[in-house]
Amino acid sequence: MFSPAFCPNPSCVYHSLPTLENPHRTVPFVRIGFYHTLVVGNVPRYRCKACGKTFGVRTFQLDYYAKRSLPYQSLHQAFYSGQNLSSIARLLHCSPASIQNRLDRLSRNAILLHQLCLRTHQIQEDLTADGYERFDRNQFFPNNINLTVGKDSQFIYGISHATLRRKGTMRPEQKAKRKTLESQWKPPRGTLSASFAFLLQDLSSFWNPSFDSPLTLYTDEHPVYPIALRKVPFLKHALSQKHLSHTRISSKLPRTVQNPLFPSNYMDRELTKDIAAYHRESVCFVRNVNNGLSRLLCYLLYHNYQKPYRIHWGALHFPSHAQVAGIPSTRFKKKLERVYDERFFLTQNPLTPLWEALWFRRYKTPLKMNEEYLPKYTYKGYTQASIK
Ligand SMILES: [Zn+2]
Repeated sequence: MFSPAFCPNPSCVYHSLPTLENPHRTVPFVRIGFYHTLVVGNVPRYRCKACGKTFGVRTFQLDYYAKRSLPYQSLHQAFYSGQNLSSIARLLHCSPASIQNRLDRLSRNAILLHQLCLRTHQIQEDLTADGYERFDRNQFFPNNINLTVGKDSQFIYGISHATLRRKGTMRPEQKAKRKTLESQWKPPRGTLSASFAFLLQDLSSFWNPSFDSPLTLYTDEHPVYPIALRKVPFLKHALSQKHLSHTRISSKLPRTVQNPLFPSNYMDRELTKDIAAYHRESVCFVRNVNNGLSRLLCYLLYHNYQKPYRIHWGALHFPSHAQVAGIPSTRFKKKLERVYDERFFLTQNPLTPLWEALWFRRYKTPLKMNEEYLPKYTYKGYTQASIK
């Protein structure tokens, strides 16, 4: 018998999740028949007696509004094993757009699971930050995918993105083409330091300089990092109080395990190896920035919470990167078990601005003039201050 733990209506008093004080709360709902779908046949319909709204079982499922059921776990595994969208689509006999749609859905669950862990976490290790240069749409729009990574755990803490201006030597016709493209769309000035500052601002959700242990941030010698640090008031203050230190490492040092930038170098290698769009000379490059970031979030879900920290052949159980970072498995185990089935609700898990930008698809795609599409049900009732 279906029994929801909460009412899906964000303005209902029964919308919040059961608490420790009230774990066995009964939601007052009644069965009122069913509605028919072509996907799964008849779906029972219910009404919440507290708010009067009706809902079906599918309201709580990751496949809410989907017109076809696809196996999320197989699709996810194929994705993080290096298959591109077309290849997965051929495997599952559907269109590449359907695969992107399912990865978008999964990425939203990944954001909420990750936020749930970070919100209650105090960082227990130093951090490395780096930007990985790839491109979106075409090679005239290089980007930086910026990640903060745990120095001991290789746990990915945060993600941000910046589109850059194409640099380097170009032939005259390439210069002319860049000029034409830039007359249509050009990245704003200072976007890289703004993107890093945005990423580093999120540290405040899991590191408090006044109470937690001092932190060291390792980066390469790119001049953008000191600029970005100065843009974040609490980090600027922490630097002056010596709670935070910034160590810059030459990128020319051998990329070994002993190199303090090993976690960032390791992530660069893993992303290049595992994600089709980041393979060298790939023809599966990202066409839409937000779609690319959705896929990266699906990779974060796998890397942080599913993949063993180190794989030794023959051994059965190894902790995930999250556990090595000090996040107990009890905090995410239940959500992880349901990540391919249930729809996690944004209105029960407020996001920090870094994750809101990803959820609301706020990153701009070069040359794209139309607004990004985001289904209304994904944010209906969300009232965080930074919502547009
Ligand atoms: Zn209700």
